[in-house]
Amino acid sequence: MSLPTELIHHPYRPPAEFESAAPGVHKASTVIFPTVAAMRQRDWKDKSAYTYGLHGTPTTFTLEERIATLEGGRHCVLAPSGLAAIALVDMALLRAGDELLIPDNAYGPGKAFAEAELAAWGIRHVYYDPMNPADLAARIHEQTRLVWLEVPGSVTLEYPDLAALVEVVRQANARLGHGQGPQRILTALDNTWGAGIAFAPFEAGVDISMQALTKYPSGGADVLMGAVVTRDEALHRRLLLTHMRLGLGVGANDAELVLRGLPSVELRYHAQDASTRALAAWMATQPAVARVFHPALPDSPGHEHWRRQARAAACLFSVVFQPQVTAAQVDAFCDRLRLFRLGYSWAGPISLCVPYDVPAMRTMSWPHAPRLVRFAVGLEAVEDLRADLAQALQALA
Ligand SMILES: *Cc1c(COP(=O)(O)O)cnc(C)c1O
Repeated sequence: MSLPTELIHHPYRPPAEFESAAPGVHKASTVIFPTVAAMRQRDWKDKSAYTYGLHGTPTTFTLEERIATLEGGRHCVLAPSGLAAIALVDMALLRAGDELLIPDNAYGPGKAFAEAELAAWGIRHVYYDPMNPADLAARIHEQTRLVWLEVPGSVTLEYPDLAALVEVVRQANARLGHGQGPQRILTALDNTWGAGIAFAPFEAGVDISMQALTKYPSGGADVLMGAVVTRDEALHRRLLLTHMRLGLGVGANDAELVLRGLPSVELRYHAQDASTRALAAWMATQPAVARVFHPALPDSPGHEHWRRQARAAACLFSVVFQPQVTAAQVDAFCDRLRLFRLGYSWAGPISLCVPYDVPAMRTMSWPHAPRLVRFAVGLEAVEDLRADLAQALQALA
């Protein structure tokens, strides 16, 4: 054999008795079959065998099992980002003529996908007020196929009555004669904030729990990934086949990064929760601050739902300043922060902030100053973060 051939057909076999604490990282586009018969027989759909990297590897199957466990579900498919996971749910479940309902305060890029892509395919989207279950009930029609839920609202952090919203959909299914059958209107929760830790999504009665693994499960601010978890086998199959046809595979090195984050996810969640509550409460005492949005604060919208339906809160809080504070001053405040860095995403080690123009993001009314600053609290010492906020507040003096 010539050298290139010898270097390609290597003799390596994984050691039979090598066991480490970390799951192995198995990479593949190609998977080698021993015989043609094996090639024809193997089925990847039930994860009993491997056929091609896009259809799963030991590394991605392990991560899928771990995320299903985190969420209290049975099945999981991974997508290359949280946004890809949202788009996968929409594309798997909706056809021309169908209608989907989206909370008005939902994650913005998911709304943009409905507005720019789904609409062009003849799929109608309607926004509802998630703080008013009667508003959701009034917007469900014969054509409604999917209701997105998000807890709490992106950026503005209103905490909805998830149980009441799920009950509205259950009653609509009964009224429209769908019952629990395959024609029923499905509920899909964006559970990125809860992460499987603040509350159990399937105990709340949702059909699908989607999560940006980019946030808590990774925890590193260095990888993008999404997950779609279900308990229903038939529903999982629909998602899985669309996932395969779209080619939404994830790489083994990225899956490994998320697997490394999982052992510490609950500790990080609670540590960041504690720091966030301390900083949100402190900000609420500052004279320049008009409102602080965080579900554990008694005057934050939906606080009573959070108190009854959740055990914890994530690392986010948002602030609106007094009316005399100008938008330029708010931007100067953000520029002056040293430990809170300017950047998107959250749940990583570094604290972040983003100024938003809220009225431009929604159709629901917004009775506060338009400029809002959303803070994502990282893993730094809380005293250092408080001092950083205090020095930056001087920009408003
Ligand atoms: C970040 C985020 C997403 C999207 O995740 P990416 O991996 O960044 O695409 C979806 N929903 C919520 C609530 C998020 O915060």
